[in-house]
Amino acid sequence: MDLKSPAAFDMLRRMVEINSFTGNPEGVNRLGAFTAECFAPLGFSAEFVPSSNPAWGRHLVLTRPGRSGSSVAMIAHLDTVFPPEEELRNHFVWSVEGDRLFGPGTHDIKGGTVMMWLVLSALREESPAAFEAVTWKLLWNSSEEEYSPDFGDVCRARFDAGTLAALVFEAEGRAGNETLLVAARKGRGTWRATASGRGSHAGGGHDRGANAVVQLGRTVQRLAELTDYASGLTFNVGTIAGGTGLNRVPHTAEARGEFRAFTPDAYARGKAALLALAGPGDVRSPADGFPCQVQVEILTESRPWPRNPGTDRLIDIWQRAGRELGQPVGSEERGGLSDGNSLWDAVPTLDGLGPWGENDHCSERSADGSKVPEFVLASAFVPKALLNLAAILELIAH
Ligand SMILES: [Zn+2]
Repeated sequence: MDLKSPAAFDMLRRMVEINSFTGNPEGVNRLGAFTAECFAPLGFSAEFVPSSNPAWGRHLVLTRPGRSGSSVAMIAHLDTVFPPEEELRNHFVWSVEGDRLFGPGTHDIKGGTVMMWLVLSALREESPAAFEAVTWKLLWNSSEEEYSPDFGDVCRARFDAGTLAALVFEAEGRAGNETLLVAARKGRGTWRATASGRGSHAGGGHDRGANAVVQLGRTVQRLAELTDYASGLTFNVGTIAGGTGLNRVPHTAEARGEFRAFTPDAYARGKAALLALAGPGDVRSPADGFPCQVQVEILTESRPWPRNPGTDRLIDIWQRAGRELGQPVGSEERGGLSDGNSLWDAVPTLDGLGPWGENDHCSERSADGSKVPEFVLASAFVPKALLNLAAILELIAH
């Protein structure tokens, strides 16, 4: 089978050479236009959907209508976490060293986009009838790295009763030589806790004060203790700030953080326990008992993607295809989010279909080689494309 690898690597290089940091909408849009160009010869037409946040680029939707009522969605994102200044500072650019293809987004997730192209090109060549039968819907999030709140709706609006699956092309995991697909991902809520006390002179009126920093210290201590590894629930206190001067009993303090859980149950329990920390605090003014007040707000939420029968059925299909090809395939549950979190309850969803690489979100290299930036393995593309191809043929045959 000819998978046109040189063309694929050239495509990947050109994608990596376009800076598409989430906060660089011009670059994200340029990558979107180039991606549409890459898929046009396969018969895809493009739609550019503005983000709900005007500071971000446009989502990309490519469609190729098929003859049957079945459709398959493939999902990736355009953005990366690397600002142009950081790429310059760390001289983090496309470079090939042996089997390693270094560069911003090689692993997360431009390698995944090229994987989509490889699979569809091979499918058109190997099984033109199957390729033409299915409607292919390819969707790229412009702002996945910033937890875009609207992309899930963009996808769901384009799914219908004939949509067989949403296939997410984030990179695969590995255990030895076993390919690990993603079967579940934690949900994530971000929060802000604010303590309001009563300011006073730290010399003359110390006992009149209700110290908001002390209150918040107690509150975040309790909050951190809500972590329960046994049920996969974690709380992280990310930032804390409060007070304005050393001679004042501080009247306000604020902490921010997040919590994560795999199951909707554990997530809901964690959220309820977090919100229950709000109310009158236990730090009071010694003079008259004036209490601090604690406020807790949820800032953003991305729902958990728990283990579910739709995803498990897709994993079975990929495992069967792997056995036929002599490629061991397993699955894992990941703590990090992807677009799969907002899709799994609309259509069966599988993630981890991209190639294998390492060090995503890292742009630095140390002189002794103990730290290298993000890369993807060139040799990982063809075997994974063959696996995806065999599994997709099986998926659309039924
Ligand atoms: Zn990603």
